[in-house]
Amino acid sequence: MSDEHCDDMLLLVQADVDGELSPAEAARVAAHLDRCAACSAAQADMLALSARLRDVPRYPASEALKTAVRARIASRAPVQRVQRSTPFGRVPAFASGLAVAACLMLVVGLPRGDDPADAIVAAHIRALLPGHLTDVASTDQHTVKPWFDGRLPFAPPVKDLKTVGFPLIGGRLDYFAGHMAAALVYRHAAHEINLFVWPDAADAAPSHGSINGYNYERWAQDGMSFWLVSDLNAADLADFSQRWKSL
Ligand SMILES: [Zn+2]
Repeated sequence: MSDEHCDDMLLLVQADVDGELSPAEAARVAAHLDRCAACSAAQADMLALSARLRDVPRYPASEALKTAVRARIASRAPVQRVQRSTPFGRVPAFASGLAVAACLMLVVGLPRGDDPADAIVAAHIRALLPGHLTDVASTDQHTVKPWFDGRLPFAPPVKDLKTVGFPLIGGRLDYFAGHMAAALVYRHAAHEINLFVWPDAADAAPSHGSINGYNYERWAQDGMSFWLVSDLNAADLADFSQRWKSL
């Protein structure tokens, strides 16, 4: 770990990934990354996600959309509905619809609301990108648990649920909503399961729900906050959480 607060540093790392830092700030970030595995892992995630977003298909804006944008910039007034006064009016409307659809696809694919459940589901989706699921791939809890030593300022509990159908497949560092978190990865049939863990003094009430087809559960136990998320059905996910809590 390091002498600088990683939560503050990660804001700078994000700005660095976006190319917004002065050379002096960038050098400070680089020095921190050299000696902090957690922030390095977070930076690798950000770079991979940013590369992934650059691969999203783009569509040229229609003349109608360009005109509307220019008009909005000129007047600083809210965008007016695109005129459909010609027989071909539906064509530009459709083209700008494609651009809107591309944006919506991003919004739907990567939920980013204020609800912590949104951040958890987004972290789960991010983890499913190729090469991101595990930093340490092992079915042995006695390999995964010590791997977190020195990489996180807390020791996450690691349990093996293989005998009840949820084999451990590894662990990973993650970061979201202002927390460094341990992500424990399990599998059930073809479904990946992420269990995010971090220390939390507040005993948050248990809750569960579903976002974009991903089910989640949260609970607090022994001073830790747990968020479980998967595309696994809610009943099997509840089975997992019950078994985890009672082990
Ligand atoms: Zn750090």
